[in-house]
Amino acid sequence: MELSLTAEQILIQENIIGFANKELNNNVIERDRNQFFSSELWKKCAEQKLTCLPVDENFGGAGLDPFSSILALEALGYGSNDGGLNFSICAHLLACVIPIWKYGSEAQKNKFLPDLCNGKKIAVNAMTENESGSDVFSITTTALKQDKGFIINGTKIFCSNGPVADVILVYALTDESKGYYGGITAFLVDKNAKGFKVGQQYEKMGLRTSGISELIFENVYVSEDDIVGGVGGGATVFNHSMEWERTGVAACHVGTMRKLLEKSIEYAQTRKSGNEVIGKKQAIAHRIATMKVQLEAARLLTYKAAFGLERSKENMINAATAKLFVSEAFVASAIDTMQIFGGNGYMTEYGIERIVRDALGSTVYSGTSDIQKNIISRLLGL
Ligand SMILES: Cc1cc2nc3c(=O)[nH]c(=O)nc-3n(C[C@H](O)[C@H](O)[C@H](O)COP(=O)(O)OP(=O)(O)OC[C@H]3O[C@@H](n4cnc5c(N)ncnc54)[C@H](O)[C@@H]3O)c2cc1C
Repeated sequence: MELSLTAEQILIQENIIGFANKELNNNVIERDRNQFFSSELWKKCAEQKLTCLPVDENFGGAGLDPFSSILALEALGYGSNDGGLNFSICAHLLACVIPIWKYGSEAQKNKFLPDLCNGKKIAVNAMTENESGSDVFSITTTALKQDKGFIINGTKIFCSNGPVADVILVYALTDESKGYYGGITAFLVDKNAKGFKVGQQYEKMGLRTSGISELIFENVYVSEDDIVGGVGGGATVFNHSMEWERTGVAACHVGTMRKLLEKSIEYAQTRKSGNEVIGKKQAIAHRIATMKVQLEAARLLTYKAAFGLERSKENMINAATAKLFVSEAFVASAIDTMQIFGGNGYMTEYGIERIVRDALGSTVYSGTSDIQKNIISRLLGL
């Protein structure tokens, strides 16, 4: 089997890497320290169509096929040192824009996609609640039927992009008796809707340039036109978005893992301990060899999941497998890099400790590693 990218795919990656190096990598340390989300950089990313990679061109998207879209995110993860901004783009694109693009009505697509693509608007996906994280089956946010619409009540937590989002894709119970499959519905809510507000903004360990908050819904009215994927179709919309999100964030991590490997090799070839460079020490060389193996395996699993997007009905297991392996390998590679850099790796100016902090979140969001194992084993019939 030969796995080679087309000339067009190579160009897409080169362009994004060139863009990221030029535009996204200045002052990342300060932005991270100050938890600063840059709307200016967001707009620049939107000009590159990173906010809308697979969306059809007639809605303002880049019109890339799913595999090329995932390659673009890999390039972003490699070129951009701003892990928080990368994550914000993934959250917006994979868990909000793509669900609207795939499950939205024509009216919703025309209304929302152009501004979500061109960077004027930012989206947030709101599923997690205080008593419903891993267990998405037990959400308590309700959407009660009223005339031609619904009234939403509930509080969502840990919503990435929450503090800056204009459009909220929120999941609520419309029929408790039916449970997750059939009982949950996805709704689009405007940030100016009466009764909606941003609650607590969290300070977090990594991904600090990406804002995260509570979102509070108090008697928020939505019309039937705001439903995405039909009444009771929320689980389908959410599962599909998670397939994209797990694959897309994994691709971003693969890009960053490549960067870590390159940095580690360069450092090991130049940093001396005693009379020889540390790369001559087997302990360092083996660590780098392990990073190389992890990177190659991570990339192949991600490409396999990417290949199945919008093509295979059996792709959920590939996305979960990639997400599980890549996030764990990303954490391991980041810690290995820190170790290779010794004291410098622990110092902020080298940028490695930030990647360690950013990486650690990857085994939690989009479903923890335990939950990916649950998904994989369930799909294996266990
Ligand atoms: C950086 C970040 C960004 C996020 N962004 C968003 C977002 O944009 N939108 C959104 O809706 N949510 C978001 N989340 C929430 C995220 O999806 C949840 O934190 C995650 O699913 C875990 O849920 P929890 O925090 O409630 O942990 P819990 O469910 O309480 O889990 C605690 C521990 O128990 C384990 N566990 C729980 N249940 C099981 C089980 N059945 N089998 C085995 N082990 C289990 C877990 O693996 C974990 O180790 C984000 C989280 C983070 C950290």
